[in-house]
Amino acid sequence: MLKEIRPLACVSASTLCFVVCKSLPDALPGSLALTHSRCGKPNCRCAQGEGHPSWSLTFMVDGKKRVEHIPEEWVEQIRPLVAQGREFKDAVAEVFAANAQLLALWRRQSMKKRPKKK
Ligand SMILES: [Zn+2]
Repeated sequence: MLKEIRPLACVSASTLCFVVCKSLPDALPGSLALTHSRCGKPNCRCAQGEGHPSWSLTFMVDGKKRVEHIPEEWVEQIRPLVAQGREFKDAVAEVFAANAQLLALWRRQSMKKRPKKK
């Protein structure tokens, strides 16, 4: 059954891997977030204000959420890589959804044929 479904898939896993490795070598998962934290020094300007800006990248590894602190001077470089990662994820989700629709179509067609055979 799987053999018959496979040609419907728009992109095979190996093709996808090739495309990703070639075009998105530095893409990052997760999302960038800006938080403000207080350093705790009572005479620091952050004690009254919003706190020190602190960037972090939140992503999943093996089903576990990880948060990495990102130095502020890296943010401009990292932001587009995170955007790339998200665009890729969305594109993959679209391919999967299209494949699922093709699978449903294929199943309906095979159902139509079946009663005639019987
Ligand atoms: Zn402070």
